Amino acid sequence: MPEPNYAVELSPPDIEPYRSGDTGVDYVTTFASGIAGPHILVTALTHGNEICGAIALDRLFRAGLRPRRGKLTLAFDNVAAYRNFNPRIPVASRFVDEDFNRLWDPMVLDGPRQSNELARARAVRPFVDAADFLLDIHSMQYATAPLMLTGVLDRSVALARRVGLPELIVCDKGHAAGPRMRDYGGFGEPASAKTALLIEAGQHWQRDTADVATDVTLRFLVAVGSLSEDDAAAIAGPHFAASPTQRVIEVTEAVTITGDKFVFASDFRGLEVLSSRGTLVGRDGDREVRTPYDDCVLIMPSRRLGTGQTAVRLGRFVA
Ligand SMILES: [Zn+2]
Repeated sequence: MPEPNYAVELSPPDIEPYRSGDTGVDYVTTFASGIAGPHILVTALTHGNEICGAIALDRLFRAGLRPRRGKLTLAFDNVAAYRNFNPRIPVASRFVDEDFNRLWDPMVLDGPRQSNELARARAVRPFVDAADFLLDIHSMQYATAPLMLTGVLDRSVALARRVGLPELIVCDKGHAAGPRMRDYGGFGEPASAKTALLIEAGQHWQRDTADVATDVTLRFLVAVGSLSEDDAAAIAGPHFAASPTQRVIEVTEAVTITGDKFVFASDFRGLEVLSSRGTLVGRDGDREVRTPYDDCVLIMPSRRLGTGQTAVRLGRFVA
């Protein structure tokens, strides 16, 4: 398959000013309003090469935004990987040892294993435990429409609708390779009130991705009552005022690679709708992966096609 060669239009911001926040954990800053209210956590750089989130948080810091009630914590997650960012090989800095976003299982976090990412996840964990609402900012390999990944809980879908951006809401299950921060603890429990969203703001290095990340973050902070509309509008970008008719895609399965080699049947980029049931999606070793129903939507086909990884997720429009 030809590899699309995306220009790196975004520059990684200097986040050193945010190293010594007031929390005792590097690159984690909490602002307390002094007024009762929820604790909001916004995280960037869960994947070190997804720099749109760092740009969005940098803009929030520079604007001096403070929560109107409750607390607001802004955290840069995988700073070690981010430090390795090189615009000539921008895919290389996703992580140092392992994916920070596949470690969010108490057995793993409390276990004996060590890695750069585990150390960082353990340091960030108290803030994830303390948060009532979480927005985790990501970006994608291919240039497709932004996606709000809500998980399967109704309250997360409802929050995505209150945020109102982007147009596409994806109710996704997790990855076989390990749970994400967004699904950790109460965020993934039906009986809890803790609510988390994950935004895939666009292609990793396109200019617009940083604007989407910023505007979705601002709308999220308004939706959870942390900022007023006027506070947010002061630094808003081109997407802030948009009100698209949102559509929901339900993910029915993640295609986990079991063979030595996974090859897609076509040069899929994501959000293709394959009209006929049984259409060949790819070959996982000797196994053919075919669409299980008509009008099957391909979600985020991956270019990291190793055993145990998610090759693509399959879903359908439900609303
Ligand atoms: Zn990511």
